[in-house]
Amino acid sequence: MNKIEMVDLRSQYLRMKDEIDAAIQNVIDSTAFVKGPAVKQFEDNLAGFLGVKHVIACGNGTDALQIALMALDLKPGDEVIAPTFTFIASAEIIALLGLTPVLVDVEPDTYNISAEAVKAAITPKTRAIIPVHLFGQNADLDAILELAKLNNLYVVEDACQSIGSNYLGKDGSVCQSGTLGDIGCTSFFPSKNLGCYGDGGAMFTNNDELAAKIRAISNHGMMVRYYHDMVGVNSRLDGIQASILDVKLKQLDDFGSRRNAAATYYDNAFNAIEELQTPHRSPVSTHVFHQYTLCVKNGKRDALKDFLNDKGIPAMVYYPVPLHLQKAYIDPRYNEGAFPVSEKLCKEVISLPMHTELSDDQLLYITESVQEFFG
Ligand SMILES: *Cc1c(COP(=O)(O)O)cnc(C)c1O
Repeated sequence: MNKIEMVDLRSQYLRMKDEIDAAIQNVIDSTAFVKGPAVKQFEDNLAGFLGVKHVIACGNGTDALQIALMALDLKPGDEVIAPTFTFIASAEIIALLGLTPVLVDVEPDTYNISAEAVKAAITPKTRAIIPVHLFGQNADLDAILELAKLNNLYVVEDACQSIGSNYLGKDGSVCQSGTLGDIGCTSFFPSKNLGCYGDGGAMFTNNDELAAKIRAISNHGMMVRYYHDMVGVNSRLDGIQASILDVKLKQLDDFGSRRNAAATYYDNAFNAIEELQTPHRSPVSTHVFHQYTLCVKNGKRDALKDFLNDKGIPAMVYYPVPLHLQKAYIDPRYNEGAFPVSEKLCKEVISLPMHTELSDDQLLYITESVQEFFG
């Protein structure tokens, strides 16, 4: 049995080595290292895959969120609603831009924010909502978009973990994750479902005006070279990363199937274990299992993690601390106990190895080890 990794990037590379190596060599031969034709081609192909009018690549997923908010002309003190149970990036860029984060709790089954929670957090200063589609499953967007329309709010979707998943609309429509809000953002960090071999990210929108602005902001605020119409940043995708992503994009649906097969294997092995809650499948979304995350009851999470680690099985806690209890974001509005679901999840969640290359013998070993722990 091969060594079990949380994310096995090496085995995946070896499976696609010839095509990836050739793509990289092409860019080196062209010397179009930053932006250039490989980036344009990838942006066009990703737009086609997502069924969206504009894709603008950038330096990473955090930049994508930041540039998206910059494009909305928000003013210092404007409030942006975001979940407290997630990766730090959303709160970070809200704070960096001088905006006020308004955090909300997540649902105990999907770990995503609900329209009810958002509704309760809206004030006259609210300008935008950032739903994060956590662990690979979309939040309930129909309700959130309706609320946004009613209150004249922007919706910036954080699809960093959910790219390739489908949102299943109330009206029977099927849309790619990140394409329903005003702007969708994703990350191509190596361990993401569509990962490159360095940093990368992208924004998507169907709005021509926002697209032009996003493109300018991500390139020093330039519409015309050396004429700076707005304050921008330097956040671009490089050609080598784009060429790798273009190869992997063709396999994104297959990656999703492989992740789902592993998740089903896990589910079947764990469903009978009383002390484990397996991932809930939302009726409004397909799942691409960026993470396979269990809830462990009776305070046994840390013991399970140590037990698995000792057996050579990586397991991680995403996330151990909710945003409102992070040192840098301590805020008198939100004390311990403010968001009970998120705080409980931080004590109970554990994510198991999840990637596109998990073999049957690895899955058997992992599931038998978990079963052994619960005896
Ligand atoms: C990874 C991630 C980001 C940030 O992406 P980077 O490319 O690492 O900057 C933002 N939000 C979520 C939910 C993520 O998982």
